[in-house]
Amino acid sequence: MQANESLFPAGDAGPIVGVALRSPVDSLFHYTVPLALQGRLAVGHAVQVPFGRRFVSGVVVELDPAPTAGIKLKPVSALLMEEPVIEPDELPFYRWVARYYRYPLGQVLAAALPPQLHQRARGHADDGPDGAEALLGPPTVEVVRLESSLTAALSAFSRPGPVRDRLLAYLERFGEVEVRQLVAQFSGARRIVRQLQDRQLVRVEHRRVDSPLESEDVEADSAPDLTGAQRSAVDDIEAARREGGFKPLLLHGVTGSGKTEVYLRAAQTAIEAGGGVLVLVPEIALTPQLVDRFAARLESPMAVLHSGLTAKQRFDRWRSLREGTARIAIGARSAVFAPVKDLALIVVDEEHDGSYKQEEGLRYHGRDVAVVRASQLGIPVVLGSATPALESFHNARRSKYGMLSLPSRVHERPLPDVTVVDLREEKGGEEARHRLLTEPLMAALTEVVERDEQAILLLNRRGHSSVVLCGSCGGSFECPDCDVSMTYHGRRNMLLCHYCGRSTPRPARCPHCNDAALEEVGEGTERIEEGLAEMLPGLRVDRMDRDTTQGRGAHARILERFRRGDIQVLVGTQMVAKGHDFPRVTLVGVLHADAALNLPDFRAGERTFALLTQVAGRAGRGEIPGRVLVQTFTPHHEAIRHALGHDYDGYARRLLDTRRAVGYPPFSRLALLRFSHKREGTVRQTARRVGDRLRRAVRSRGGTDAGLRLLGPAPAPMPRIAGRYRWNLLLLAPGPALLSTLLADAQGHLDEAAKVSGIRLAVDVDPQSML
Ligand code: ADP
Ligand code: ZN
Repeated sequence: MQANESLFPAGDAGPIVGVALRSPVDSLFHYTVPLALQGRLAVGHAVQVPFGRRFVSGVVVELDPAPTAGIKLKPVSALLMEEPVIEPDELPFYRWVARYYRYPLGQVLAAALPPQLHQRARGHADDGPDGAEALLGPPTVEVVRLESSLTAALSAFSRPGPVRDRLLAYLERFGEVEVRQLVAQFSGARRIVRQLQDRQLVRVEHRRVDSPLESEDVEADSAPDLTGAQRSAVDDIEAARREGGFKPLLLHGVTGSGKTEVYLRAAQTAIEAGGGVLVLVPEIALTPQLVDRFAARLESPMAVLHSGLTAKQRFDRWRSLREGTARIAIGARSAVFAPVKDLALIVVDEEHDGSYKQEEGLRYHGRDVAVVRASQLGIPVVLGSATPALESFHNARRSKYGMLSLPSRVHERPLPDVTVVDLREEKGGEEARHRLLTEPLMAALTEVVERDEQAILLLNRRGHSSVVLCGSCGGSFECPDCDVSMTYHGRRNMLLCHYCGRSTPRPARCPHCNDAALEEVGEGTERIEEGLAEMLPGLRVDRMDRDTTQGRGAHARILERFRRGDIQVLVGTQMVAKGHDFPRVTLVGVLHADAALNLPDFRAGERTFALLTQVAGRAGRGEIPGRVLVQTFTPHHEAIRHALGHDYDGYARRLLDTRRAVGYPPFSRLALLRFSHKREGTVRQTARRVGDRLRRAVRSRGGTDAGLRLLGPAPAPMPRIAGRYRWNLLLLAPGPALLSTLLADAQGHLDEAAKVSGIRLAVDVDPQSML
């Protein structure tokens, strides 16, 4: 606990509060409560306080802490919102997040709360603090109403005012108008309104509005009869909710088994019983169907949270959840902090998805935080997937989680037939100009098009080609800042580094030997799209990857065109593998299944299996059965063999055996410490110094006998990105408690290392990417 020293005395010795600041310091700071706020400040209030020479926002987390003797405290400068922004009983949850992910409590709260709170605080600081005033009222609009007759109003002024007269006439016509509408139409509207107000000709009011929630244009939808498996899953969730208490449930349902219907029913009953519901999805832009289905079925207002919202919209939705105007929140990982009132059920859809992990700042895992939130609230949490994360499967096997299964598709539709195309034996189309557009694939595509059905092709590599090589000297184009090949993007005729974003025009000749014989190797989605258009003229093909989905609503537009049948073949990266439900898709092609298998990451196999299963699951969801072609250079790899047989359980058990043997998750917990610096020597030295100290800490906590291990320091698998050298230290502990203790032991050393000029240090607890 530190105290915030003031240069001048703080007048009276009134009450004191502890504030978690939105600043990188991992401490609570004490402030006095000014007279105007005495009796009004409670735990959970957002305030603005002086800090050094600035003002920052923070949240009151302690009342009347023991004062530190001999230090003069500064007063809180403003209350940012009349009502508390978190409930006092939510504080333990945020404290858990802060401690577990090694992140300052004030910053955790800042990440969880809508940014507008802080923006207001900043704007206010510029004007200087003007005392204890609530800056944010309920969402309101400012409206003007004409109080007298138009004639009386027009004659109330001796000097002419043509704009004023028109404004008055306008008011007369509409009776009541929003101020911002007047401002948009009449120059000097604000000044004129003030003059009118002074003469009591108009009245200005702040009118409370209910924030517009996502009003999806969807037709109401009636509920189908549940299948037996769905029924028993819904019943189990229901029973857990009625019984009360924490209950994590893994909903393992094959693709097309109707998991969404289970979520819908469970949500519906929770809401009917007066509760609120939180639904997490991997990426909102990629799951418009799920949002639509909720909107169509549930009458309760819902708040959809996504990254396209303005700060104001985000704030309004946050508030409507907090007040209970909206009863359901649907959003990506950060929605795990949504302040749903009387939260009674949490659903995490596609719980295995990598996008639940935030890879910067507060490096939390949305699914794991959801489970912790449910445990603290004592409510059920449903984790749904066709390919559960190994951690979740393991928890279900040892009965930490309940297991709900949907073992077959609705209407007993078959899972698609999966066959392998061995790329080692295929010549590829057009004399191997398109090695990945193989003969079996092209034949299958042709049939699909003839039958007026649709196909999805997955290739997890965007751009035109992944490498440009000189056919004469063998030279290639590497990013000067990252030591990786730059990807050729044909549309823009640029070479682009996918790690740091550096781009450069593609040269016509080799810069090393000046030869013009440059070759493109490693097809990406862009080249596949081109190849298809060449080989099947007239084909309506489109592409969905990061390059085609930059604009707002771009995903939704592509998916909508696909749904309407304007697109016959959709090529894309893993974006095409998400939960899409398109009944006319009868063919899925995985163009290069092993692309991700060789990454130096212990989850490479697990991820490949999940991706293959998920994308295969897009085929044959309607009445016509589907088929899947998996093209690979390694047809005998376990991940691929099990995916062919739709054998999640078999593969998961194999993986568990391997992980147990090497002591990796879920049989241990990891923390990855990443160091980076522009100079390799500095990062190496710093990582080694921290490594030595951590090794000592590991020993003093029992070392290998206690199941503790420290690997490294060593250069990261991607040793340099954007000009920064990267070194890693990997800490393994048998469980979360010991891992946390060790990291707390090491905090002093980490803080010290972080002070080395230019060093960046990130602590990643439960890392998802080892690169
Ligand atoms: P999953 O998420 O498990 O892949 P979905 O929830 O998308 O599966 O359901 C697949 C399809 O089956 C959807 O078109 C859905 O509307 C339909 N469906 C789900 N449950 C039923 C049911 N009980 N009866 C009829 N159709 C259903
Ligand atoms: Zn780069």
